[in-house]
Amino acid sequence: YFYSKRAQINDYIVLNDEQAHHVSHVLRMRENDVVRIVDKENTMFFAHLLFEGKKVIAHLDQKIEDHTRNAVRITLLQGMIKKEKWDYVLQKSAELGVDCIVPFTSSRTVVKAKEERMDKKLLRWNKILLEACEQCKRSTLVDLKEPCLLKDAARYKSELNIIAYEDADATSEKLHRLLAKYPKISSVTIAIGSEGGFSKEEVSMLMEMGYHRVSLGARILRAETAALAAIHGTSFYYDM
Ligand code: SAM
Repeated sequence: YFYSKRAQINDYIVLNDEQAHHVSHVLRMRENDVVRIVDKENTMFFAHLLFEGKKVIAHLDQKIEDHTRNAVRITLLQGMIKKEKWDYVLQKSAELGVDCIVPFTSSRTVVKAKEERMDKKLLRWNKILLEACEQCKRSTLVDLKEPCLLKDAARYKSELNIIAYEDADATSEKLHRLLAKYPKISSVTIAIGSEGGFSKEEVSMLMEMGYHRVSLGARILRAETAALAAIHGTSFYYDM
């Protein structure tokens, strides 16, 4: 379970209402059962549970070494796509170990980021991410940024920066061939377009900013497939 403050060994942490309900009624855990707690610094602990009425308290008694991180830090710049697919990308990216997600709008995005509803949306998206992180037992949260324009999203650069562009004219380099040229890096940013993809001007703009154009294969993938294929391809390459 995630805890919003910094924690240390021997702390007693009161689970929030939703977590307490999950522990008591969904998992039917009892006194002294063990859970994992991750604090805001992404440090993970084993904790014993104590029950005081409806209150569930976790006593942190052992720090856990972090085995769930990918060998590279991955930032996903994802063009906004329709709701169900967007939620799917969030959930699956969290499972695949993405560290940061930057939603963007561009000339061909159909879904627009309406500011007045953004607070509510960010809450819902963060909840999806949190639940996915808990479910797959990763020890770090996903840092979700507010939606912005592509040119601003592109500033979230890493040591290697990639724009996935369907290979209409067969000039994009294959993802794994590009990665093979950068064996020692520790961070990668991957830009994936929305349903409408990137315009030529947008691809040029990103390339001028130092992005490498890559192909994910001969077929045109849906945005959500492309995102997950690129994330997995990258993390798998550096985990080998
Ligand atoms: N508008 C495009 C079309 O219909 O020709 C398709 C865009 S695709 C649905 C959405 C995004 O997925 C693209 O912007 C790109 O980032 C990524 N993508 C899909 N297939 C790809 C491939 N074969 N190689 C690289 N990127 C791909």
